[in-house]
Amino acid sequence: MAQLEKIVIVGGGAAGMEIATKLGHKVGRKNKAHVTLIDMAEAHVWKPLLHEVATGALDEGIDAVSYRGHAKAHGYHFQQGALQDVDRDNRQVILAPISDEKGNELLPSRRIDYDYLVIAIGSVANDFNIPGVLEHCVFLDTTEQAMDIRKILLNKFMRYASHQQLEDRIKVAIVGAGATGVEMSAEMHNAVNSLRGFGYKISTDLLDVTLVEADDRILPKVEKEQISASVAKQLNAIGVDVRTGTRIVEVDETGLTTADGERIDADMVVWSTGVKAPDFLKDIGGLESNHINQLVVKGTCQTTRDERVFSIGDCTALQQPDGSWVPPRGQAARQEALMVADNIISMLKGGTADKEYIYKDLGSLVNMSKFHTVGNLMSFLGGGVLVEGKIARFVYTSLYRRHLIEIHGFWRGTLMMFMKGINRIVRPHLKLH
Ligand SMILES: Cc1cc2nc3c(=O)[nH]c(=O)nc-3n(C[C@H](O)[C@H](O)[C@H](O)COP(=O)(O)OP(=O)(O)OC[C@H]3O[C@@H](n4cnc5c(N)ncnc54)[C@H](O)[C@@H]3O)c2cc1C
Repeated sequence: MAQLEKIVIVGGGAAGMEIATKLGHKVGRKNKAHVTLIDMAEAHVWKPLLHEVATGALDEGIDAVSYRGHAKAHGYHFQQGALQDVDRDNRQVILAPISDEKGNELLPSRRIDYDYLVIAIGSVANDFNIPGVLEHCVFLDTTEQAMDIRKILLNKFMRYASHQQLEDRIKVAIVGAGATGVEMSAEMHNAVNSLRGFGYKISTDLLDVTLVEADDRILPKVEKEQISASVAKQLNAIGVDVRTGTRIVEVDETGLTTADGERIDADMVVWSTGVKAPDFLKDIGGLESNHINQLVVKGTCQTTRDERVFSIGDCTALQQPDGSWVPPRGQAARQEALMVADNIISMLKGGTADKEYIYKDLGSLVNMSKFHTVGNLMSFLGGGVLVEGKIARFVYTSLYRRHLIEIHGFWRGTLMMFMKGINRIVRPHLKLH
Protein backbone atom coordinates (compact mmCIF):
# COMPACT_ATOMS: atom_id res chain seq x y z
CA MET A 1 0.00 0.00 0.00
CA ALA A 2 1.35 3.43 -0.98
CA GLN A 3 2.38 5.59 1.96
CA LEU A 4 0.14 8.54 2.76
CA GLU A 5 1.66 11.94 2.02
CA LYS A 6 2.55 13.85 5.17
CA ILE A 7 1.34 17.38 5.84
CA VAL A 8 3.03 19.04 8.80
CA ILE A 9 1.71 22.33 10.24
CA VAL A 10 3.89 24.11 12.78
CA GLY A 11 2.07 26.55 15.07
CA GLY A 12 -1.51 26.02 16.26
CA GLY A 13 -2.68 29.63 16.57
CA ALA A 14 -5.30 31.59 14.65
CA ALA A 15 -3.90 30.29 11.34
CA GLY A 16 -2.60 26.85 12.35
CA MET A 17 -5.76 25.65 14.14
CA GLU A 18 -7.93 26.64 11.18
CA ILE A 19 -5.81 24.83 8.59
CA ALA A 20 -5.26 21.74 10.77
CA THR A 21 -9.03 21.47 11.30
CA LYS A 22 -9.87 21.94 7.63
CA LEU A 23 -7.22 19.48 6.41
CA GLY A 24 -8.12 17.04 9.19
CA HIS A 25 -11.74 17.02 7.98
CA LYS A 26 -11.01 17.00 4.23
CA VAL A 27 -8.10 14.57 3.99
CA GLY A 28 -7.03 13.30 7.44
CA ARG A 29 -10.34 11.65 8.35
CA LYS A 30 -10.67 10.16 4.87
CA ASN A 31 -7.20 8.65 5.02
CA LYS A 32 -6.04 10.66 2.00
CA ALA A 33 -3.09 12.23 3.83
CA HIS A 34 -1.45 12.17 7.25
CA VAL A 35 -1.90 15.57 8.92
CA THR A 36 0.23 16.57 11.94
CA LEU A 37 0.04 19.79 13.94
CA ILE A 38 3.06 20.77 16.04
CA ASP A 39 2.93 23.45 18.73
CA MET A 40 5.27 24.28 21.59
CA ALA A 41 2.26 24.64 23.91
CA GLU A 42 -0.21 21.97 25.02
CA ALA A 43 -3.30 24.04 24.44
CA HIS A 44 -4.60 26.72 22.11
CA VAL A 45 -5.77 30.10 23.39
CA TRP A 46 -6.99 32.59 20.77
CA LYS A 47 -4.37 35.35 20.82
CA PRO A 48 -6.75 38.33 20.61
CA LEU A 49 -8.00 37.31 24.07
CA LEU A 50 -4.59 37.42 25.76
CA HIS A 51 -5.09 40.86 27.31
CA GLU A 52 -8.12 39.42 29.11
CA VAL A 53 -6.00 36.52 30.40
CA ALA A 54 -3.46 39.10 31.61
CA THR A 55 -5.99 40.96 33.73
CA GLY A 56 -7.84 37.86 34.91
CA ALA A 57 -11.02 38.76 32.98
CA LEU A 58 -10.66 35.44 31.14
CA ASP A 59 -9.82 32.08 32.68
CA GLU A 60 -7.44 30.40 30.24
CA GLY A 61 -8.14 27.09 31.96
CA ILE A 62 -11.71 27.24 30.65
CA ASP A 63 -11.13 28.83 27.24
CA ALA A 64 -8.01 26.86 26.23
CA VAL A 65 -8.46 24.03 23.73
CA SER A 66 -6.29 20.96 24.30
CA TYR A 67 -4.47 20.21 21.04
CA ARG A 68 -4.45 16.47 21.69
CA GLY A 69 -8.19 16.29 22.33
CA HIS A 70 -8.96 18.51 19.35
CA ALA A 71 -6.67 16.52 17.04
CA LYS A 72 -8.37 13.25 17.98
CA ALA A 73 -11.82 14.67 17.28
CA HIS A 74 -10.88 16.34 13.98
CA GLY A 75 -8.79 13.84 12.02
CA TYR A 76 -5.24 15.06 12.55
CA HIS A 77 -2.34 14.21 14.87
CA PHE A 78 -0.59 16.39 17.40
CA GLN A 79 3.03 16.55 18.55
CA GLN A 80 4.22 18.98 21.19
CA GLY A 81 7.55 20.67 20.47
CA ALA A 82 9.24 23.90 19.42
CA LEU A 83 10.42 24.27 15.85
CA GLN A 84 14.17 24.81 15.71
CA ASP A 85 15.11 24.30 12.07
CA VAL A 86 13.98 22.89 8.74
CA ASP A 87 16.12 20.39 6.80
CA ARG A 88 14.75 20.94 3.30
CA ASP A 89 17.07 18.38 1.62
CA ASN A 90 15.56 15.57 3.70
CA ARG A 91 12.14 17.24 4.09
CA GLN A 92 12.23 17.17 7.87
CA VAL A 93 11.43 19.66 10.61
CA ILE A 94 13.75 19.64 13.61
CA LEU A 95 12.21 20.16 17.05
CA ALA A 96 14.09 21.34 20.13
CA PRO A 97 14.48 18.93 23.08
CA ILE A 98 11.77 19.22 25.76
CA SER A 99 12.78 19.56 29.42
CA ASP A 100 10.76 19.64 32.64
CA GLU A 101 10.66 22.68 34.99
CA LYS A 102 13.89 21.47 36.68
CA GLY A 103 15.75 21.27 33.38
CA ASN A 104 15.70 17.45 33.12
CA GLU A 105 15.36 16.36 29.50
CA LEU A 106 12.01 14.69 28.83
CA LEU A 107 12.37 14.29 25.07
CA PRO A 108 15.50 14.70 22.94
CA SER A 109 15.56 16.74 19.73
CA ARG A 110 13.27 15.10 17.13
CA ARG A 111 13.03 15.08 13.34
CA ILE A 112 9.61 14.82 11.71
CA ASP A 113 9.16 14.02 8.01
CA TYR A 114 6.96 16.12 5.76
CA ASP A 115 5.87 16.22 2.13
CA TYR A 116 4.14 19.58 2.64
CA LEU A 117 5.11 21.95 5.42
CA VAL A 118 3.06 24.91 6.68
CA ILE A 119 4.86 27.34 8.99
CA ALA A 120 2.40 29.32 11.16
CA ILE A 121 4.34 30.25 14.28
CA GLY A 122 3.03 33.82 14.59
CA SER A 123 4.89 36.87 15.81
CA VAL A 124 6.46 38.41 18.90
CA ALA A 125 6.61 42.05 20.02
CA ASN A 126 9.36 44.01 18.29
CA ASP A 127 11.79 45.57 20.78
CA PHE A 128 13.42 47.62 17.96
CA ASN A 129 16.75 47.01 19.78
CA ILE A 130 15.81 49.69 22.32
CA PRO A 131 18.06 49.30 25.39
CA GLY A 132 16.39 47.69 28.39
CA VAL A 133 13.20 46.49 26.67
CA LEU A 134 13.99 42.78 26.80
CA GLU A 135 15.26 42.95 30.39
CA HIS A 136 12.62 45.17 31.97
CA CYS A 137 9.37 44.83 30.03
CA VAL A 138 6.61 42.26 30.02
CA PHE A 139 5.12 41.07 26.75
CA LEU A 140 1.79 39.74 25.59
CA ASP A 141 2.82 37.15 23.01
CA THR A 142 2.00 33.88 24.78
CA THR A 143 -0.48 32.60 27.35
CA GLU A 144 2.37 32.13 29.86
CA GLN A 145 3.38 35.78 29.49
CA ALA A 146 -0.23 36.88 29.96
CA MET A 147 -0.43 34.75 33.13
CA ASP A 148 2.83 36.30 34.37
CA ILE A 149 1.35 39.78 33.96
CA ARG A 150 -1.71 38.69 35.96
CA LYS A 151 0.52 37.36 38.72
CA ILE A 152 2.54 40.61 38.92
CA LEU A 153 -0.63 42.71 39.08
CA LEU A 154 -2.31 40.52 41.69
CA ASN A 155 0.79 40.58 43.89
CA LYS A 156 0.81 44.37 43.76
CA PHE A 157 -2.89 44.59 44.56
CA MET A 158 -2.47 42.14 47.42
CA ARG A 159 0.18 44.38 49.01
CA TYR A 160 -2.11 47.38 48.62
CA ALA A 161 -5.08 45.60 50.06
CA SER A 162 -3.06 44.73 53.17
CA HIS A 163 -2.16 48.43 53.64
CA GLN A 164 1.55 47.85 53.31
CA GLN A 165 2.14 50.30 50.53
CA LEU A 166 -0.48 52.99 50.82
CA GLU A 167 1.92 55.86 50.12
CA ASP A 168 2.48 54.68 46.53
CA ARG A 169 0.25 54.29 43.52
CA ILE A 170 0.60 51.38 41.12
CA LYS A 171 2.18 52.75 37.97
CA VAL A 172 1.77 50.80 34.75
CA ALA A 173 3.15 52.03 31.43
CA ILE A 174 1.95 50.46 28.20
CA VAL A 175 4.14 51.22 25.21
CA GLY A 176 2.41 51.04 21.84
CA ALA A 177 -1.14 52.29 21.37
CA GLY A 178 -2.27 49.82 18.74
CA ALA A 179 -5.34 47.69 19.49
CA THR A 180 -3.42 45.54 22.01
CA GLY A 181 -2.15 48.51 24.05
CA VAL A 182 -5.51 50.29 24.01
CA GLU A 183 -7.51 47.20 24.99
CA MET A 184 -5.02 46.33 27.74
CA SER A 185 -5.25 49.87 29.25
CA ALA A 186 -9.03 49.68 29.48
CA GLU A 187 -9.04 46.09 30.72
CA MET A 188 -6.73 47.03 33.62
CA HIS A 189 -9.16 49.65 34.86
CA ASN A 190 -11.98 47.18 34.61
CA ALA A 191 -9.96 44.59 36.56
CA VAL A 192 -9.34 47.02 39.42
CA ASN A 193 -13.06 47.85 39.57
CA SER A 194 -13.89 44.15 39.67
CA LEU A 195 -11.34 43.46 42.41
CA ARG A 196 -13.32 45.69 44.75
CA GLY A 197 -16.12 43.16 44.50
CA PHE A 198 -13.73 40.57 45.96
CA GLY A 199 -13.07 42.62 49.07
CA TYR A 200 -9.85 44.28 47.94
CA LYS A 201 -9.87 47.78 49.41
CA ILE A 202 -8.58 49.49 46.28
CA SER A 203 -9.92 51.87 43.68
CA THR A 204 -8.89 52.92 40.20
CA ASP A 205 -7.47 56.10 41.82
CA LEU A 206 -4.60 53.93 42.99
CA LEU A 207 -3.80 52.85 39.44
CA ASP A 208 -1.83 55.08 37.07
CA VAL A 209 -1.91 53.75 33.54
CA THR A 210 0.16 55.66 30.98
CA LEU A 211 -0.30 54.70 27.35
CA VAL A 212 2.66 55.81 25.24
CA GLU A 213 2.63 56.09 21.45
CA ALA A 214 5.38 57.37 19.12
CA ASP A 215 2.87 58.35 16.41
CA ASP A 216 0.88 61.56 16.77
CA ARG A 217 -2.34 59.62 17.36
CA ILE A 218 -3.34 56.37 19.05
CA LEU A 219 -4.37 53.45 16.81
CA PRO A 220 -2.12 54.79 14.03
CA LYS A 221 -2.83 51.79 11.76
CA VAL A 222 -6.58 52.42 11.85
CA GLU A 223 -7.44 54.51 8.79
CA LYS A 224 -10.22 56.60 10.32
CA GLU A 225 -8.81 59.30 12.63
CA GLN A 226 -12.33 59.64 14.00
CA ILE A 227 -11.92 56.22 15.67
CA SER A 228 -8.59 57.22 17.27
CA ALA A 229 -10.20 60.40 18.60
CA SER A 230 -13.23 58.55 20.00
CA VAL A 231 -11.03 55.94 21.72
CA ALA A 232 -8.66 58.60 23.14
CA LYS A 233 -11.64 60.43 24.63
CA GLN A 234 -12.91 57.25 26.31
CA LEU A 235 -9.46 56.41 27.67
CA ASN A 236 -9.11 59.89 29.14
CA ALA A 237 -12.55 59.52 30.70
CA ILE A 238 -11.54 56.36 32.57
CA GLY A 239 -8.27 57.97 33.72
CA VAL A 240 -5.67 56.61 31.30
CA ASP A 241 -2.88 59.12 30.64
CA VAL A 242 -2.49 59.01 26.84
CA ARG A 243 0.82 60.34 25.51
CA THR A 244 1.12 60.49 21.74
CA GLY A 245 4.19 61.73 19.82
CA THR A 246 6.34 60.20 22.57
CA ARG A 247 9.23 58.00 21.50
CA ILE A 248 10.87 55.74 24.09
CA VAL A 249 14.66 55.45 23.88
CA GLU A 250 15.41 53.43 27.00
CA VAL A 251 13.73 51.29 29.65
CA ASP A 252 15.19 50.56 33.09
CA GLU A 253 13.91 48.98 36.30
CA THR A 254 12.09 52.15 37.38
CA GLY A 255 10.52 53.25 34.11
CA LEU A 256 10.98 54.83 30.70
CA THR A 257 13.10 57.57 29.17
CA THR A 258 11.66 59.44 26.19
CA ALA A 259 13.55 60.93 23.22
CA ASP A 260 13.03 64.37 24.86
CA GLY A 261 14.75 63.16 28.01
CA GLU A 262 11.53 63.03 30.05
CA ARG A 263 11.08 60.24 32.65
CA ILE A 264 7.94 58.16 32.96
CA ASP A 265 8.03 56.15 36.19
CA ALA A 266 6.54 52.67 36.05
CA ASP A 267 6.36 49.61 38.31
CA MET A 268 5.53 47.53 35.27
CA VAL A 269 6.04 48.21 31.55
CA VAL A 270 3.96 46.29 29.01
CA TRP A 271 5.68 46.40 25.61
CA SER A 272 3.15 46.18 22.79
CA THR A 273 4.69 48.01 19.87
CA GLY A 274 4.79 46.46 16.37
CA VAL A 275 5.49 42.80 15.72
CA LYS A 276 8.25 40.75 14.15
CA ALA A 277 8.57 37.03 13.43
CA PRO A 278 10.75 35.09 15.92
CA ASP A 279 14.49 35.72 15.29
CA PHE A 280 15.34 32.10 14.46
CA LEU A 281 13.16 32.28 11.32
CA LYS A 282 15.68 34.68 9.79
CA ASP A 283 17.84 31.85 8.39
CA ILE A 284 15.59 28.84 8.73
CA GLY A 285 16.17 26.18 6.07
CA GLY A 286 17.72 28.73 3.70
CA LEU A 287 14.27 30.23 3.04
CA GLU A 288 13.92 33.90 2.06
CA SER A 289 13.01 36.25 4.93
CA ASN A 290 12.55 40.02 5.30
CA HIS A 291 13.92 42.62 7.77
CA ILE A 292 11.48 41.51 10.50
CA ASN A 293 12.24 37.78 10.00
CA GLN A 294 8.97 37.00 8.21
CA LEU A 295 9.16 34.30 5.52
CA VAL A 296 8.62 35.79 2.08
CA VAL A 297 5.90 34.01 0.12
CA LYS A 298 4.22 34.16 -3.28
CA GLY A 299 0.48 34.87 -3.63
CA THR A 300 -0.19 31.15 -3.09
CA CYS A 301 1.56 31.41 0.33
CA GLN A 302 4.32 29.09 -0.96
CA THR A 303 7.73 30.32 0.16
CA THR A 304 9.74 31.82 -2.69
CA ARG A 305 12.45 29.12 -2.60
CA ASP A 306 10.41 25.98 -1.95
CA GLU A 307 6.93 25.28 -3.25
CA ARG A 308 6.38 22.51 -0.68
CA VAL A 309 6.94 24.92 2.20
CA PHE A 310 4.09 27.36 2.94
CA SER A 311 3.95 30.19 5.44
CA ILE A 312 0.75 31.77 6.80
CA GLY A 313 -0.26 34.28 9.48
CA ASP A 314 1.89 36.82 11.27
CA CYS A 315 5.22 35.13 10.41
CA THR A 316 4.57 35.70 6.70
CA ALA A 317 5.55 38.51 4.31
CA LEU A 318 3.06 38.58 1.44
CA GLN A 319 3.03 41.50 -0.95
CA GLN A 320 -0.26 42.38 -2.64
CA PRO A 321 -0.62 43.35 -6.33
CA ASP A 322 -1.03 47.01 -5.23
CA GLY A 323 2.37 46.89 -3.50
CA SER A 324 1.03 46.84 0.09
CA TRP A 325 1.85 44.00 2.53
CA VAL A 326 -0.73 41.82 4.20
CA PRO A 327 -0.97 43.07 7.82
CA PRO A 328 -0.38 40.81 10.86
CA ARG A 329 -4.05 40.35 11.71
CA GLY A 330 -6.21 37.49 12.88
CA GLN A 331 -8.53 37.83 9.88
CA ALA A 332 -5.61 37.56 7.41
CA ALA A 333 -4.25 34.51 9.28
CA ARG A 334 -7.61 32.79 9.03
CA GLN A 335 -8.22 33.63 5.37
CA GLU A 336 -4.73 32.46 4.37
CA ALA A 337 -5.15 29.22 6.32
CA LEU A 338 -8.41 28.30 4.58
CA MET A 339 -6.93 29.09 1.16
CA VAL A 340 -3.69 27.17 1.73
CA ALA A 341 -5.70 24.10 2.74
CA ASP A 342 -7.30 24.22 -0.75
CA ASN A 343 -3.89 24.66 -2.41
CA ILE A 344 -2.44 21.65 -0.59
CA ILE A 345 -5.49 19.52 -1.42
CA SER A 346 -5.04 20.47 -5.09
CA MET A 347 -1.35 19.47 -4.95
CA LEU A 348 -2.23 16.15 -3.27
CA LYS A 349 -4.44 15.42 -6.28
CA GLY A 350 -1.52 16.04 -8.64
CA GLY A 351 -2.51 19.62 -9.48
CA THR A 352 -0.84 22.90 -8.56
CA ALA A 353 -1.41 25.50 -5.87
CA ASP A 354 -3.57 27.81 -7.93
CA LYS A 355 -5.34 30.03 -5.38
CA GLU A 356 -3.72 33.38 -4.65
CA TYR A 357 -4.44 35.36 -1.52
CA ILE A 358 -5.76 38.92 -1.67
CA TYR A 359 -6.31 40.54 1.71
CA LYS A 360 -9.85 41.71 2.19
CA ASP A 361 -10.00 44.11 5.12
CA LEU A 362 -13.28 43.38 6.86
CA GLY A 363 -12.59 46.16 9.34
CA SER A 364 -11.08 46.75 12.77
CA LEU A 365 -12.81 46.89 16.11
CA VAL A 366 -11.37 48.05 19.38
CA ASN A 367 -12.98 46.80 22.55
CA MET A 368 -12.25 48.84 25.66
CA SER A 369 -13.47 46.24 28.10
CA LYS A 370 -16.98 47.08 29.39
CA PHE A 371 -16.42 50.80 28.72
CA HIS A 372 -16.80 51.16 24.96
CA THR A 373 -16.43 49.36 21.62
CA VAL A 374 -15.79 51.20 18.38
CA GLY A 375 -14.49 50.43 14.92
CA ASN A 376 -14.81 50.36 11.21
CA LEU A 377 -16.50 47.57 9.29
CA MET A 378 -16.03 46.49 5.66
CA SER A 379 -13.05 48.77 5.08
CA PHE A 380 -12.67 47.28 1.61
CA LEU A 381 -15.82 49.23 0.62
CA GLY A 382 -13.98 52.53 0.23
CA GLY A 383 -13.65 53.80 3.79
CA GLY A 384 -16.07 51.37 5.47
CA VAL A 385 -18.80 51.96 8.03
CA LEU A 386 -18.19 53.39 11.49
CA VAL A 387 -19.83 51.37 14.28
CA GLU A 388 -19.96 51.97 18.03
CA GLY A 389 -21.53 50.61 21.19
CA LYS A 390 -23.61 47.43 21.34
CA ILE A 391 -23.49 46.69 17.58
CA ALA A 392 -19.71 47.05 17.58
CA ARG A 393 -19.47 44.84 20.68
CA PHE A 394 -21.63 42.18 19.01
CA VAL A 395 -19.47 42.14 15.88
CA TYR A 396 -16.30 42.09 18.02
CA THR A 397 -17.44 38.98 19.91
CA SER A 398 -18.64 37.39 16.67
CA LEU A 399 -15.01 37.16 15.49
CA TYR A 400 -14.29 34.77 18.36
CA ARG A 401 -17.63 33.03 17.82
CA ARG A 402 -16.69 32.33 14.21
CA HIS A 403 -13.28 31.02 15.26
CA LEU A 404 -14.93 28.61 17.72
CA ILE A 405 -17.43 27.45 15.12
CA GLU A 406 -14.69 26.87 12.55
CA ILE A 407 -12.52 24.81 14.87
CA HIS A 408 -15.28 22.95 16.76
CA GLY A 409 -18.17 22.82 14.29
CA PHE A 410 -21.44 24.79 14.43
CA TRP A 411 -23.23 23.15 17.35
CA ARG A 412 -20.24 22.66 19.63
CA GLY A 413 -18.87 26.14 18.86
CA THR A 414 -22.25 27.78 19.53
CA LEU A 415 -22.65 25.77 22.73
CA MET A 416 -19.23 26.91 23.89
CA MET A 417 -20.16 30.57 23.37
CA PHE A 418 -23.40 29.92 25.24
CA MET A 419 -21.49 28.36 28.14
CA LYS A 420 -19.09 31.29 28.11
CA GLY A 421 -22.14 33.55 28.57
CA ILE A 422 -23.37 31.40 31.48
CA ASN A 423 -19.91 31.36 33.05
CA ARG A 424 -19.93 35.15 33.01
CA ILE A 425 -23.02 35.01 35.20
CA VAL A 426 -22.23 32.13 37.56
CA ARG A 427 -18.45 32.29 37.91
CA PRO A 428 -16.31 35.01 39.51
CA HIS A 429 -15.64 37.87 37.08
CA LEU A 430 -11.92 37.69 37.68
CA LYS A 431 -9.44 34.88 37.92
CA LEU A 432 -7.51 35.53 41.13
CA HIS A 433 -4.86 32.80 41.02
C1 LIG B 1 -4.03 41.30 22.72
C2 LIG B 1 -4.18 41.09 21.23
C3 LIG B 1 -5.37 41.47 20.59
C4 LIG B 1 -5.53 41.26 19.21
N1 LIG B 1 -6.71 41.62 18.64
C5 LIG B 1 -6.92 41.39 17.32
C6 LIG B 1 -8.17 41.72 16.70
O1 LIG B 1 -9.09 42.24 17.36
N2 LIG B 1 -8.33 41.46 15.37
C7 LIG B 1 -7.33 40.88 14.62
O2 LIG B 1 -7.53 40.67 13.41
N3 LIG B 1 -6.14 40.56 15.17
C8 LIG B 1 -5.90 40.80 16.49
N4 LIG B 1 -4.68 40.49 17.07
C9 LIG B 1 -3.64 39.90 16.22
C10 LIG B 1 -3.90 38.40 16.06
O3 LIG B 1 -3.95 37.80 17.34
C11 LIG B 1 -2.77 37.77 15.24
O4 LIG B 1 -2.66 38.45 14.01
C12 LIG B 1 -3.06 36.30 14.97
O5 LIG B 1 -3.17 35.59 16.20
C13 LIG B 1 -1.94 35.69 14.12
O6 LIG B 1 -2.20 34.33 13.95
P1 LIG B 1 -0.98 33.31 13.77
O7 LIG B 1 -1.59 31.97 13.61
O8 LIG B 1 -0.07 33.82 12.73
O9 LIG B 1 -0.17 33.39 15.12
P2 LIG B 1 -0.65 33.00 16.61
O10 LIG B 1 -2.12 33.07 16.73
O11 LIG B 1 0.18 33.85 17.50
O12 LIG B 1 -0.20 31.48 16.74
C14 LIG B 1 1.15 31.08 16.71
C15 LIG B 1 1.23 29.69 17.31
O13 LIG B 1 2.56 29.19 17.06
C16 LIG B 1 3.07 28.59 18.24
N5 LIG B 1 4.53 28.70 18.17
C17 LIG B 1 5.28 29.82 18.26
N6 LIG B 1 6.59 29.53 18.10
C18 LIG B 1 6.66 28.19 17.90
C19 LIG B 1 7.74 27.28 17.66
N7 LIG B 1 9.01 27.67 17.60
N8 LIG B 1 7.45 25.97 17.50
C20 LIG B 1 6.16 25.52 17.58
N9 LIG B 1 5.11 26.35 17.80
C21 LIG B 1 5.36 27.66 17.95
C22 LIG B 1 2.43 29.37 19.38
O14 LIG B 1 2.38 28.58 20.57
C23 LIG B 1 1.03 29.66 18.81
O15 LIG B 1 0.12 28.63 19.14
C24 LIG B 1 -4.48 40.69 18.44
C25 LIG B 1 -3.28 40.32 19.09
C26 LIG B 1 -3.12 40.50 20.45
C27 LIG B 1 -1.83 40.09 21.13
